[in-house]
Amino acid sequence: MDFTYQGYKGLLKLLKSEDYIFSSYENYISNTHCVILRHDIDYSLEQAVKLANIENENGVRSTYFILLTSDFYNPASSLSYKLLHEIIDLGHNVGLHFDETAYKYDIFPIDYYIRKETRILSDLLDVNINCFSLHRPNKITLETSLCIPGLINAYGDEFFKHFKYISDSRRRWREPIEEIILSKRYNYLHILTHAFWYHETDVSIHQGVLNFIKAASRERLSTLQYNISNLDSILNDDGDHK
Ligand SMILES: [Zn+2]
Repeated sequence: MDFTYQGYKGLLKLLKSEDYIFSSYENYISNTHCVILRHDIDYSLEQAVKLANIENENGVRSTYFILLTSDFYNPASSLSYKLLHEIIDLGHNVGLHFDETAYKYDIFPIDYYIRKETRILSDLLDVNINCFSLHRPNKITLETSLCIPGLINAYGDEFFKHFKYISDSRRRWREPIEEIILSKRYNYLHILTHAFWYHETDVSIHQGVLNFIKAASRERLSTLQYNISNLDSILNDDGDHK
């Protein structure tokens, strides 16, 4: 499949044609042939909203994991609130995407920070958050299979040993996803996608990243225009005088 919205629709269609039931981390247990679609929002809420719309148009529900410590988006901003509630209103679940590198664990253990961020995200969004995934976890954290009462760990053994897990990390499926879906070998699929890699047209990974960098510059300008009156007069000033 290519990394376009059309390609993603094709993936959903393929899963449906193989009778996979789209499930959440909570309710999959009642299904004997199902898929959990997971999205880690590493960079762009806007792109996540696009996939959330495509899924909704195709009658599909999935789970979006949100970083609280991102340098790319601010979950506490009013725009983020609006975008994240768009995702929720489209029928999807949201969870915490946790970046362990944001903390030093010499004072409290990792589960303290996961609980803390879960509470903060719940408060920010006015929704209950009961699952988390890890952002680029190190080998030790990954192998620990963290168990935190009251919270579902999307990286827990349950979703890796019981499920066939496939991810599009770095815009590359490690295994041929279509073949896996069509193989009829797996009753439980756990598919991680990153909305960041998907575009309207089939652009190269290089161009996609470059477009994102250029768009950030335009967004920054527009935010400055909102905050500084007569910004144009400042920008048009050649800066010769102080
Ligand atoms: Zn991530």
